[in-house]
Amino acid sequence: MYRSHTCGELNASAIGQEITLAGWVQKVRNKGFMIWVDLRDRYGITQLIFDEERSAEDLMNLAGTLAREFVIQVKGEVIERESKNPNIPTGDIEVLVKELQILNDSKTPPFTIEEETDGGEDLRMKYRYLDIRRNPVKNKLMFRHKVAMQVRNYLSDQGFIEVETPYLIKSTPEGARDFVVPSRMNEGQFYALPQSPQTFKQLLMVGGMDKYFQIVKCFRDEDLRADRQPEFTQIDCEMTFVEQEDILDIFEGLTRHLLKEIKGVEVDKFPRMTYAEAMKKYGNDKPDIRFGMEFAELDELAKNKGFNVFDQQELVVGIAVPGAASFTRKELDALISWVKRPQVGASGLVYAKYNEDGSMKSSVDKFYSEEDLKEWAEATGAKPGDLILVMAGDANKTRTQLSALRMHLGNELGLRKADEFAPLWVVDFPLLEWDEETERYHAMHHPFTSPKPEDISKLESAPGEVRANAYDLVLNGNEIGGGSIRIHDQQMQSRMFDLLGFTKEEAKAQFGFLMDAFQYGAPPHGGIAFGFDRLTAILGGQESIRDYIAFPKNNAGRDIMIDAPAPLDDEQLEELHLRVKIE
Ligand code: ASP
Repeated sequence: MYRSHTCGELNASAIGQEITLAGWVQKVRNKGFMIWVDLRDRYGITQLIFDEERSAEDLMNLAGTLAREFVIQVKGEVIERESKNPNIPTGDIEVLVKELQILNDSKTPPFTIEEETDGGEDLRMKYRYLDIRRNPVKNKLMFRHKVAMQVRNYLSDQGFIEVETPYLIKSTPEGARDFVVPSRMNEGQFYALPQSPQTFKQLLMVGGMDKYFQIVKCFRDEDLRADRQPEFTQIDCEMTFVEQEDILDIFEGLTRHLLKEIKGVEVDKFPRMTYAEAMKKYGNDKPDIRFGMEFAELDELAKNKGFNVFDQQELVVGIAVPGAASFTRKELDALISWVKRPQVGASGLVYAKYNEDGSMKSSVDKFYSEEDLKEWAEATGAKPGDLILVMAGDANKTRTQLSALRMHLGNELGLRKADEFAPLWVVDFPLLEWDEETERYHAMHHPFTSPKPEDISKLESAPGEVRANAYDLVLNGNEIGGGSIRIHDQQMQSRMFDLLGFTKEEAKAQFGFLMDAFQYGAPPHGGIAFGFDRLTAILGGQESIRDYIAFPKNNAGRDIMIDAPAPLDDEQLEELHLRVKIE
């Protein structure tokens, strides 16, 4: 038996007991006549004591060789500690060691294994197994487990069955490139790793499974934006004989369950917003609705007043920033430069301060009277003490830019509070999205999403106006889930493939199996998938998903610990019938 207890459980009630512990040496304090060691495992830290007066000389000598991260086993007696540490559960006791065995020694770790470490990101990732020994990472992995268990409990209680689907498949388009795997046994042929189990879960519905879920890895080869991972985890779900309302209901329930069980937070019924409304009010299809600052369109009020910068623009739109009338010239200049950065790409920013004394001061005083500006204030909801910020330009671009500014200010002003949760459903997404580059329509969600019945007549005549039975669950400005009611009719599915520019042959080659299945009594069905990494991070009150993943990849898609990806050797290439061409 390596241990009778963990390092986190002994307290005053164990005083006098003979126990055995095993763990890592966190810290050694050697005073010569006395040696204290902090012994750590997943459960906590227990202080060990070696004492010249009470311990044999051999034991003292051996204890003197201990260093950080040695793995040891000790047998000893639990005794009362002289100077107690009220901050840890084991702080009242220490273990007077009688036997010590070094199970393994350790090189000096490349960074300190403490709450706060001196190791930079790269170093911690290279030695991720050491990083995982640190509380902040360890606790996040344990937190992730807790969320996963709650997800499973809830869904299982609702009658969902967890079914695994294969990873070696054929392309399932979710808008990214596929990772592909060459087949040794089938020369010149490749599997694709699933961007999601989308088609399989639909086939499970055709198979009569009725309610499916899976906590599952998905793989998407896309240029990695900040905080994306090429492989990530979804809570993937599908249900039969459901309408949109049924799905929203069940998964609102799941989210509510998680908020309650994990955070102790009760939330009201989730508000709903159409995609069109979200874009108009927040310039964003995943609005953070915790901090107001809704968009106000100012075209009527701001155009044709002699300020011709605005006159020619498609849209003039503003927001009121609470309490920001006191921004200094320098702060305002910083905001202007911020929106002009290439990442945002705005051409400028107009401001109007609504001073506490009721007067107005703007960067466009030459063109607008105080009355004009007061109208802006009314439209944006600005009160004395607030700052009105206005942008103008192409409608879609300007909305996106103002949204970026709104989020930036939300962060800067501390309005995005980690302990406040504001979920909402965004519904009625467009079915299709025009892609300038390829000059083609793309499925906004994926090609299996059904159009709203009332919009079907516009499929060919005005495809851009067709709305989908698709919905996203948004939490605090993050899309945490998205799904749709699916097409279950072979004819409609093939019309959809036509619209997306697939030839009949391409559609058959890629999705023949699904079209076939639709000929054998496919039931109406729909589903949703939650981004599990992101959901966990948000519930944990963090923005970054990386620490919630045991072995994440870096921004270049590399695992720097195992050093992957890596070239294949010639023999392996030969076996796979591959030749590498490096330009
Ligand atoms: N497969 C979709 C996705 O990964 C989710 C869904 O439609 O259920 O986004």
